Amino acid sequence: MDQELVSLLICPNCRGDIEYREAEQVIACVGRCGYRYPVVKGIPHMLIGEAIKS
Ligand SMILES: [Zn+2]
Repeated sequence: MDQELVSLLICPNCRGDIEYREAEQVIACVGRCGYRYPVVKGIPHMLIGEAIKS
């Protein structure tokens, strides 16, 4: 996935910074909510409804 794209994204839930975890194929919020968003076929699904909340 394009790291430049990742740098433009923010968490849609808390508007915190996110990071791409290639091994897990998720975009992880490094802000206060800690939600993880699935990356499907290289496309980040940055939707609160699809977030993994743990
Ligand atoms: Zn967040």
